[in-house]
Amino acid sequence: MRVGLGRDVHRLAPGRRLLLGGVCISEECGCVAHSDGDCLIHALMDALLGAAALPDIGVLFPCDDEKNRGRDSCKMLREVVKMVRNRRFRIVNVDLMIQLEAPPVNPFFSAIRERLSPLLGSEGSVIGLKATTAEGLDSVGNGKAVEVFCVCLLEEEI
Ligand code: MG
Repeated sequence: MRVGLGRDVHRLAPGRRLLLGGVCISEECGCVAHSDGDCLIHALMDALLGAAALPDIGVLFPCDDEKNRGRDSCKMLREVVKMVRNRRFRIVNVDLMIQLEAPPVNPFFSAIRERLSPLLGSEGSVIGLKATTAEGLDSVGNGKAVEVFCVCLLEEEI
């Protein structure tokens, strides 16, 4: 068994789409990012890569590379899962914690699970999703940022 940890944070700005787990959460206020800014998928990819002892997303998908501009994070996740599988690891479970002041993310959990499970090649039941606010504290609490933490467990196939 191998455990992995990932974390990502993005600034929020008006007039952008907020994507989390490949699902549009808001059309009014979204992430400032080089890629599509899907903070949840970025944290998830780093957790998977960390568990497999592979290079992180900053190395695999550099933000100064033009081909990553506006890039679909779901496609990057597909590549990462392929790399993890090539190392002969199976995803046992992933657990995600979203920190966002608004809007509430819970109503989107089933849509996020539906979007992620085929990409992970796993049942939706192995994807843990939780959301919390930061109680008005720090940049997340002030609605200026979204932050996601992820842990995952991989099992080596024998
Ligand atoms: Mg990111």
